[in-house]
Amino acid sequence: MTERTSSTHSLQAVVAKRFKTFLAANGLRQTPERYALLKAIYDIDGLFTIEELSEQMDIRRFPVSTATIYSAMQLFVQANLVIRHPFSTTAAVYERISDDRPRCYQICSNCHHITRIKSKELAKGVTTFRPRRFTPTHRVAYIYGVCPKCEKQQAKAAV
Ligand SMILES: [Zn+2]
Repeated sequence: MTERTSSTHSLQAVVAKRFKTFLAANGLRQTPERYALLKAIYDIDGLFTIEELSEQMDIRRFPVSTATIYSAMQLFVQANLVIRHPFSTTAAVYERISDDRPRCYQICSNCHHITRIKSKELAKGVTTFRPRRFTPTHRVAYIYGVCPKCEKQQAKAAV
């Protein structure tokens, strides 16, 4: 077992425990579907849509209805285990959040293409910033702009 695999396993355990506490505190049922979805989500390192999650469940031979996925996603968001990104795309974009790592994204305002920014400098700034009288639970940064492809097209159109 690699170190990465074992850290993913312990994260899975922590998240399952947090979700169990959340369900119990809110008087909600513990269903195998909800735990299977949460496990699948925490195996995805990055962004996903409901459709992609549904495909993932089919691959795992644990098909779950779209209605069940939607209602479970609301619970994961409420439990602070998943965030729904406010990207201006048609399909809602989600991501696991409970691993204390900052998320930084650049989004093209024209074609809505999303790219993760892998900058240690930005990650450090986002992580170390201490808001006044406000306790951060997770940290996400968005930078909107124009991607190189759209910039090229816009330059062409201007000629
Ligand atoms: Zn673009």
